[in-house]
Amino acid sequence: MEDEKFQVIFTSVSFRCILFAFFEHSMADPKILVCIDFDKTIIDCNTDAEIKSLLNGKEVPEEIESLAKVTKGWTAYMRELFIFMHKNNVSKDDYIRCLTQLPLVPGMQELLNQMHESGDCEIVILSDANSFFVHCILRHNQLNETISKVFTNPAEFDKDGCLQIREFQNQTSCKRCPPNLCKGAVLVTYIAKRMLEGVQFCRTLYIGDGHNDVCAALHLGINDYIFARAGYRLLRCLEKMPARNVKATIIPWETAKNIKDVLLST
Ligand SMILES: [Mg+2]
Ligand SMILES: [Zn+2]
Repeated sequence: MEDEKFQVIFTSVSFRCILFAFFEHSMADPKILVCIDFDKTIIDCNTDAEIKSLLNGKEVPEEIESLAKVTKGWTAYMRELFIFMHKNNVSKDDYIRCLTQLPLVPGMQELLNQMHESGDCEIVILSDANSFFVHCILRHNQLNETISKVFTNPAEFDKDGCLQIREFQNQTSCKRCPPNLCKGAVLVTYIAKRMLEGVQFCRTLYIGDGHNDVCAALHLGINDYIFARAGYRLLRCLEKMPARNVKATIIPWETAKNIKDVLLST
């Protein structure tokens, strides 16, 4: 067992030496990777639901609503919803007005800024919303400089002023995640990419709430932390799983202060 452990350490050290010699990088300081979901985690609501208020009570037709109930159809549903909203004269300014009024989770802005300013953390967002919503809200809350990278479905307004969304990816290898975004695969790929760039994370923190955060949480190791929002599906799913399937430490949270308190005590 000891030999096996030694072997693992030796192999990873040699691999790193080869890697760094090859890229002529000096060894970077160990950094903490913070992966964070967006809806119901940074922002205290669900953006996809909130923007429907711009229809001023007008019902979304059943043929569009029914798309939302298909497991694979969320991005397709949002695409049709944006077209419907455009037909009902909802403009880019209307979206901005709605999105910039949405409340953040209490203490989240301060927590993200403190993590960033510490110099120890690299923060990336993994979200099944879309790039227009996420960047609009980050900019409004002066968080755009705080976040290193946003992985989400690309979205932009076309020349007619209709918001057009595309799938982030089209994957079939992970059955736990929707085809347009496997957060676990994105996380693993990002860590590998950063290692090639000379940044090796000593620990990953994952902060989320929903069912689509489960895959990423299960990819974490014994040194990592899963901050799962209390009363939401991520925590419920993890609690139902056999303990051996979840290697990282699970910590329930209600406000960003709970997360900060744990980080300060470790
Ligand atoms: Mg969420
Ligand atoms: Zn997945």
